[in-house]
Amino acid sequence: MSFSNPLNKLLSPPQDHNGLVCSVSGRKRTRWIKATAWLLLGQLWCGTVMAAGPRPKNIIFLIGDGMGVAQIWAGYTANKGMLNLERCKHIGFSKTYSADDYITDSAAGATAFSIGQKTNNHVIGQDATGKSQPTILELADKQGLATGMVVTCSVTHATPASFIAHQPHRKMDEAIAADFLATDIDVLVGGGRQYFAQREDKRNLLTELAGNKYQIPTTLEQFEAIKDGKVVALVADKHLAKMSEGRGDFEPRAVRKTMDLLSKNKKGFFLMVEGSQIDWGGHENDADYIAKEMQDFDKTIGVVLDWAKADGNTLVVITADHETGGFSIPSGDLQQGTFVGKFTTKDHTGVMVPVFAYGPGAEAFMGIYENNTIFGKFAEALSIKVPTK
Ligand code: MG
Ligand code: ZN
Repeated sequence: MSFSNPLNKLLSPPQDHNGLVCSVSGRKRTRWIKATAWLLLGQLWCGTVMAAGPRPKNIIFLIGDGMGVAQIWAGYTANKGMLNLERCKHIGFSKTYSADDYITDSAAGATAFSIGQKTNNHVIGQDATGKSQPTILELADKQGLATGMVVTCSVTHATPASFIAHQPHRKMDEAIAADFLATDIDVLVGGGRQYFAQREDKRNLLTELAGNKYQIPTTLEQFEAIKDGKVVALVADKHLAKMSEGRGDFEPRAVRKTMDLLSKNKKGFFLMVEGSQIDWGGHENDADYIAKEMQDFDKTIGVVLDWAKADGNTLVVITADHETGGFSIPSGDLQQGTFVGKFTTKDHTGVMVPVFAYGPGAEAFMGIYENNTIFGKFAEALSIKVPTK
């Protein structure tokens, strides 16, 4: 029962005309042919593995602002024992302190991710010496990848700002908004329309963006109707509503649409998604606020993981910039979906935060490491050239 596979012929010993295996010289030749065949096979296999590799084409980076382990557990309990996050099997921890403080703020936290260096608190897209540094989103854009951000706060707020703007202080919303004009981001979704359209310098950045061929929808429905091209969708004057005040399924829907738009770029894409308000629940010491924002963020994570699973070429990384509130859960009930939350501060804390990864390249996110090393892991995964600092 032999198939006409040339390898079978190559690997089976040469036979004489009587069907007997040839003697010594034949055996030597057989060994040599076998060795060569295996070498060739090995090279083929290695080549395939290295080319198909653990390298993703796209990266989706989800930041739960202020999302420590207890915040995650609040969402798990409120969901009566379910989180999409659990689908990630590669898990690590990130050390969050900033260049000048044991406790980071969200500007220094996001800038560590975006530029690959720890910086001082309040600083946006600049290193600890005050020098502007290119962000992972800008470098991805430079290399021809599509880029996007979806957040539930003003797009000028510290976390999204740190991926595009370069300013010495996070409070400079109008200067940060103007920095968006200097980039070529493909899809930007969130709030903050007032910093673009009602400015002290009287510029109307939305008109300028329209001049740069951006579509400017003002509702989620208008955004979802867009077929292709560049989009800045600012759906609120400042921040979006809390989940408890009717934000609904804005973020999971906006992210699904954004992935569909960005994936039209054949070179790949880098997308940052923020669960912006988990942090605000912590600052307000409001356990219910935390739980509802965490449930929404996890719903978004589910949409992203489904998309990444179907795509097969997308690395998904989910982490936090820091923990907020010194939050803990001394008691709860998984059947009822209820728990008691306690807080030790109205500010951030210095504890490590978990990192969850899914998809090709996820192994790189295991272990315990500095928050700023996540930048290098992204650059490595997408083969992005990082200029020397
Ligand atoms: Mg934030
Ligand atoms: Zn905060």
